[in-house]
Amino acid sequence: MNTKSTNKNNYDLVVLGAGSGGVRAARVAANHGAKVAIIESVKVGGTCVLRGCVPKKLLVYGSQTAHEIKDAEGYGWSFDSVKHDWSKLIEAKNIELDRLNKVYLSLLESAGVDIIYGFAEIKGKNTVEVNGNNYSTEKILISVGAKPYIPNIKGRKNFISSDDALELNSFPKNIIIYGGGYISLEFAGIFSSLGSKVTIVYRGSDLLRGFDEDISKHISHELKNKNISIITQTQILSVSNNNNKFEALLSNKKKISAEQILCATGRIPNTEGLGLKNIGILMGSKGEILVNEFNCTSLQNIYAVGDVTNRINLTPVAIAEGQCFADNVFGNLNIPCDLKDVPSAVFSQPAIGVVGYTEDEAVNKFKNSGGVKIYKTFFKPMKQTLSGGDTNIMIKMIVSNNDDKVVGIHSIGDDMPEIIQMAAVAIKSGAKKSDFDATMGIHPTSAEEMVTMK
Ligand code: NDP
Repeated sequence: MNTKSTNKNNYDLVVLGAGSGGVRAARVAANHGAKVAIIESVKVGGTCVLRGCVPKKLLVYGSQTAHEIKDAEGYGWSFDSVKHDWSKLIEAKNIELDRLNKVYLSLLESAGVDIIYGFAEIKGKNTVEVNGNNYSTEKILISVGAKPYIPNIKGRKNFISSDDALELNSFPKNIIIYGGGYISLEFAGIFSSLGSKVTIVYRGSDLLRGFDEDISKHISHELKNKNISIITQTQILSVSNNNNKFEALLSNKKKISAEQILCATGRIPNTEGLGLKNIGILMGSKGEILVNEFNCTSLQNIYAVGDVTNRINLTPVAIAEGQCFADNVFGNLNIPCDLKDVPSAVFSQPAIGVVGYTEDEAVNKFKNSGGVKIYKTFFKPMKQTLSGGDTNIMIKMIVSNNDDKVVGIHSIGDDMPEIIQMAAVAIKSGAKKSDFDATMGIHPTSAEEMVTMK
């Protein structure tokens, strides 16, 4: 595509939302020759850069240092005094986010994308309004992401969300976290490692529903070992504020209180106010935009990528979808985005890395084609021999009996997200258990267990 429209307010593509997916799509479409505008109501960068993956991981690093200091003593180090300054960590994190915001801005500018600040409303199939100005466009891409979902219970304003948790002015001595998913476990690790007494309240029986059962069980064990309290099969019915001490009334009739109560009960697509009903676009029950394998909505010139479609809500997926959209629509390709065997990590402490089918999924999938074999190992990492820690690493491998292919790996241990990234390459390439077995280990590492599982 090489023709650019001459009218200032006429675009080939208007992108709503400058997060990971939208920015990638806008840049690539512009590089294919399209005239592109991107509309952002807050700051360029989106959830991952400003309110999610990046700031969270920086706080994970900051909090993990506490364990490293403790481990160091076993290796002969001693410290006269050790203290942590929460506000310094938050300040340093914010400086890094500003830097990344500028990187994103310059990527858009150098690709020739117009950046328009304000809240966008879709007025018609080819018209988007921002701050009272109408922009006409051939195609629209909706990449507005998602926002924290807070259940409608009495006193809900007393909850903080994950957005707030990244910006707290003072460090809470104790905190209740509601929910048992990704965000709950990641913040539980951050606050607990920095010295807060953490209590997780979860409505289900095993944390991380949807993950392999051994992951749920083992991570619960490890978190309890780190003095995190976990109350399961319990809901929070209301939250009240008593002189800045927050109290939660639980469905088991007990009351528990803390300096903060973080609500981590999921995220919902950010579709409110976008005018989607004006154009009759099809949406699901959570307000997610329904798309086909090419990310096209029910309207043929309107597309959506990333968390707003509420499928696999991960940054690399949104980026891949943005890239595919731009290559397909403006680069004359016709290749759907490949979302098979997407690895993921939970940056709890210890961390979790997974790829492929869970045991339950695999048993079901392969029940008529030979079934599956399960390999499992639990061991203490070598580092703990001198430091005296008691975290167990778990690795579980699922192999299809019929063709010996590895179809799932589920692991817990601090380095596992790094290791699983590479294991995902093997799974994606169709590696067999015999290929893992034939691979020489690197000794002594935790990763070598993956090639020695019997
Ligand atoms: P999750 O879906 O992972 O977890 C939500 C939790 O809240 C679940 O335990 C769920 O319980 C519970 N819950 C949901 N609704 C209610 C309710 N009405 N009342 C009480 N409890 C409720 O969501 P998160 O907010 O943790 O994260 C959102 C998404 O963001 C993740 O799914 C993931 O895709 C992405 N993410 C990825 C990260 C990463 O890659 N490291 C990090 C953070 C987020 P139940 O199990 O019963 O449904």
